[in-house]
Amino acid sequence: MRTISLLGATGSIGASTLDLVRRHPADWRVVALSANCSARELAVLAREFRAEIAVVADEGCLPELREALAGSGIEAAGGERALVEAASRPVDLFVAAIVGCAGLAPTMAAIEQGGTIALANKEALVSAGEVMTAAVRRHGATLLPVDSEHNAIFQCLAGGRLSDVRWITLTASGGPFRDATMAELEAATPAQAVKHPNWSMGAKISVDSATMMNKGLEFIEAYHLFPVGLERLRIIVHPQSIVHSMVEYRDGSTLAQLGPSDMRVPIASALAWPARMDTPCDPLDLAAIGTLEFRAPDETRFPATRLAREAAAHGGAAPAVLNAANEIAVAAFLSGQIGFTRIAAMAEDMLGQGTLPPPPSTLDEVLLVDCEARTRARALLQAV
Ligand code: NAD
Ligand code: MG
Repeated sequence: MRTISLLGATGSIGASTLDLVRRHPADWRVVALSANCSARELAVLAREFRAEIAVVADEGCLPELREALAGSGIEAAGGERALVEAASRPVDLFVAAIVGCAGLAPTMAAIEQGGTIALANKEALVSAGEVMTAAVRRHGATLLPVDSEHNAIFQCLAGGRLSDVRWITLTASGGPFRDATMAELEAATPAQAVKHPNWSMGAKISVDSATMMNKGLEFIEAYHLFPVGLERLRIIVHPQSIVHSMVEYRDGSTLAQLGPSDMRVPIASALAWPARMDTPCDPLDLAAIGTLEFRAPDETRFPATRLAREAAAHGGAAPAVLNAANEIAVAAFLSGQIGFTRIAAMAEDMLGQGTLPPPPSTLDEVLLVDCEARTRARALLQAV
């Protein structure tokens, strides 16, 4: 039996993870579960999985959590410090499934325990970059990528050497607006943007997928997870989302990982690593799928991947600023405050506007860059 903590338990990755844990109850003992503020939903999960502690990030939701957990013997806690404390409890596997830079501090706390971290929370790695990878090395932690592309690359690199890699190719579905005209993009609504053709995901990442910022963030994520250099990373659009990414070696061999568009496959790979476990996912039926297509990305309609590449090349604070600008812009788009194409435009304005802060070298400095960038992004929104 292994111990597991799951932050972001009430989200889409959280649900997929718990679905797998539920199917193998004898293998896992749950330590910590968290949510932002859905206290009742969290309490139901904490009771079902007999968690040691349940944490709501929003302290205002703590009374409701306490009430919902009364008599269960499960600890209830609230606020960011409680989240970090829960993340510091040693476990065999820590699953980082909070959305956004909000997951950074708890993920860093888990890394400091030197354990194994299944990382879904890409924004944390994008913002903290070298600060996080240095902490991983310093504390002897292991990062297992859960993002389907990075999990695919991780699998394709098993037994290979980074120095033998010619290309790492991230595949992108292209999102719901893959074939949309500029005019259609201008008029795109939140309801259309969150309707992903292949994957069922949380709202923020669905919008990121529609703008291709998801692929941009994943490009930076790959840059940190697999240090082959920016010039060896590329993106290809693959509408079927069956090939989850590829590694081409110097001898001309390309290894790819294929699977259904179901996040339980990469999550299972991280849960069982280095072994394998059963999943209830549909087996891959290539004859039924018939055709796999590939095409070059269009950075005129979707500038986000170019912005991410530029931010990665600039390094320092640029990726954290890009991420913060995007988080604010996506929230503004979802609440009807700005149009769809304004999301990438705002990220571009933020990267180009004035001087970037100096490169952060500690967690606190990353959080400061993130906080200041959010303030600037909100000011930009007011000016619209
Ligand atoms: P989601 O919106 O469905 O769930 C997010 C979770 O984080 C919820 O439990 C929510 O309560 C919690 N949360 C939200 N804001 C918070 C805050 N400020 N502080 C603390 N907790 C907070 O998101 P998701 O789709 O499950 O995505 C989670 C992460 O995994 C994201 O970083 C996303 O990019 C990544 N990811 C998701 C998928 C997917 O298929 N959903 C695939 C690859 C990577
Ligand atoms: Mg992905």
